[in-house]
Amino acid sequence: MSDLPKARIATASLAGCFGCHMALLDIDERLIELMKLVEFDRSPLTDIKRFTRRCDIGIIEGGCCNEENVHVLQDFRRNCDILVGIGQCAIMGGLPAMRNAIMHSDEPLRECLEEAYIKGPFTQNKTQIIPNDPALPLLLDKVYPCSEVVEIDYQIPGCAPTGDVIYEALAGLLSGKFQGFEREHIRFD
Ligand code: SF4
Repeated sequence: MSDLPKARIATASLAGCFGCHMALLDIDERLIELMKLVEFDRSPLTDIKRFTRRCDIGIIEGGCCNEENVHVLQDFRRNCDILVGIGQCAIMGGLPAMRNAIMHSDEPLRECLEEAYIKGPFTQNKTQIIPNDPALPLLLDKVYPCSEVVEIDYQIPGCAPTGDVIYEALAGLLSGKFQGFEREHIRFD
């Protein structure tokens, strides 16, 4: 085992489905080798809520659909040497960004919320109230890819990326030899 200090990794799930975090497990038995090289800081995987120190790599799943997502993403940019967007939601907004296509009225966000909570064909909401608790994060006008909010150093494509692609990226970043992906991994992006 290497005597070098372990690289410190932080992860966050913003507007995504957590599928990209689950895909980390698809690295399978290579995780054992990887864990000899890294330790996790702030992450839903550790339940550490705040950075305990600066991290070498930050991995972001999901784009930004609310103000909390923006604050978390900016915090990761401040505290991570390398920031990586994982999955299509982080890279281009993904499924949550489908609401960006709703723009029939002057208030597209309200139109979207009314469709979800009041007018939708399968909606059952006796109160006819759109959730408005002050504790809820403020929704943004649309869903933004991470790269439109902060500088992103690398992107790992896929929905979710395969374990092989994630491993290739992490191993390359840890060795300082990551050169981006071959065309076969990004041909649909
Ligand atoms: Fe889920 Fe796919 Fe988005 Fe990853 S890219 S968070 S798997 S929807």
